[in-house]
Amino acid sequence: MQMHGRFLAAALALTLTACGAGEPGPAPAVTAAGSPPPILEAAPAVEATTAGANAPGSLPPVVRHGPRDVQKVALTFDADMTDAMKARLRNGAVSSYANLRLLALLETRRIPATFFVTGQWAEQYPDVTRRIAGNPRFEIANHSYEHAAFTGDCYNLPRLAPGEMTGDVDKTFTTLHPYGGRQTRYFRFPGLCHDRAALRALAPLGVTVVDGDVVSGDPFARGAAPVIDAVLSQVKPGSIVIMHITEANARFTDDALPAVLAGLRRRGLEPVTLSELLS
Ligand SMILES: [Zn+2]
Repeated sequence: MQMHGRFLAAALALTLTACGAGEPGPAPAVTAAGSPPPILEAAPAVEATTAGANAPGSLPPVVRHGPRDVQKVALTFDADMTDAMKARLRNGAVSSYANLRLLALLETRRIPATFFVTGQWAEQYPDVTRRIAGNPRFEIANHSYEHAAFTGDCYNLPRLAPGEMTGDVDKTFTTLHPYGGRQTRYFRFPGLCHDRAALRALAPLGVTVVDGDVVSGDPFARGAAPVIDAVLSQVKPGSIVIMHITEANARFTDDALPAVLAGLRRRGLEPVTLSELLS
């Protein structure tokens, strides 16, 4: 976590390079000497224009927020799905981890948003994932495949073995890719738990790691008010707000959203997608 500041400048610089004016970056052209730079050669052409894409092989930058001199914020919604959550759906202990009322609010109010989707959530809710991907105001980002921990001591989540980390995240990209829409190379660690080993494991994937500077606390909140207070007391220009679309685990996010949006409007803060905030 101490690494954030160091990586932020690099993250912003890389993002500016990757998608500054929304135009494709320069092609990795063969130089006069005849050999392209090895890192670019390894990257498929499509990656160069994908939001959050970085040169595979380099340590992923970690972003906590966007520039503080723009009146914009990114609302991000995590779609967790652990094996334990799948079991609770199967045995009927809960009915849904997809907050459709929240999604409908974002749709009808035309609010840009970025969804960090786990592979297992997309598999559980293919129709909802398709609906998210089909909305031009929404972006899709990666929140791991099974929402397991990438470090020890991470909210009691079962821990991935070091050798499983790269495959877990890569498998999620493969799962999400067929849904199309605005796919990105943004990745958020489950529980935001990461260390240098976890970052190193993701280096081959060419991602940007996104934490956030406003934790809404919506999982397991006992009402909308604490979520509204948490967001509006912390939010600043350039903030990345972390919320959840996981219904049974975050029951009041939809109730909180209208007041959150009104509070942002009062502060002159416009919700935008993550890629717009970081461009
Ligand atoms: Zn999560």
